[in-house]
Amino acid sequence: MTINIILLGPPGAGKGTQARKLEEERGLVQLSTGDMLRAARSSGTEMGRRVAEVMDRGELVTDEIVIGLIREKLAEGGNGFIFDGFPRTLAQADALGALLDETGMTLDAVIEMQVDDAALVRRITGRFTCGNCGEVYHDETKPTAKPGVCDACGSTDLGRRADDNEDSLKTRLLEYYKKTSPLIGYYYAKGKLAPVDGLAAMDEVGAQIAAALNGK
Ligand code: ADP
Ligand code: ZN
Repeated sequence: MTINIILLGPPGAGKGTQARKLEEERGLVQLSTGDMLRAARSSGTEMGRRVAEVMDRGELVTDEIVIGLIREKLAEGGNGFIFDGFPRTLAQADALGALLDETGMTLDAVIEMQVDDAALVRRITGRFTCGNCGEVYHDETKPTAKPGVCDACGSTDLGRRADDNEDSLKTRLLEYYKKTSPLIGYYYAKGKLAPVDGLAAMDEVGAQIAAALNGK
């Protein structure tokens, strides 16, 4: 069955991890506006240059830009989507609703990944990734076996996101509470909201998501 779902939650809630899991298990396509914007900035385009500064400060990129990115991807079609990091504002949520209507698609569930703020700060400030294979590590909870070398692929291209520092994280959290958290009420009212415990172990979070999608 084709389904379209949104993963909703603050930065560091584990949306990307669960999205990759759902891609593997259900053949859905992950649409991460964060990844699309990072790709745009490294492509050296005018739009990329404009968004880079905004992202590094931890602020939200304009609705117009991200809605444009999503519109392009939906036009390509596909067999069910996981929206990861989108929508992040009420305007984006309305725009997504309209785009899905236009293409005859439905929104099946909005998975709300609940985590507390202290855990987010710990998760994000210790986070680093392999630039070659995308594996995610953490200074305390998941260091590499050999310092500076990726366990998964052996690359030494390990790096931190420019916005994974305490100042930008503070801004990202504020942006989340001011602009994104109202979406919890919005989707609750639409009967789409399914809360899961984002602090549970990775497989347990996956099981809770599977239960929420049961029969869909
Ligand atoms: P995280 O969820 O860890 O904050 P993302 O990779 O989803 O990371 O997003 C990184 C940054 O990209 C955001 O802080 C913001 O600047 C920008 N961004 C991503 N998605 C959106 C969106 N839907 N609307 C506006 N800005 C976005
Ligand atoms: Zn690697």
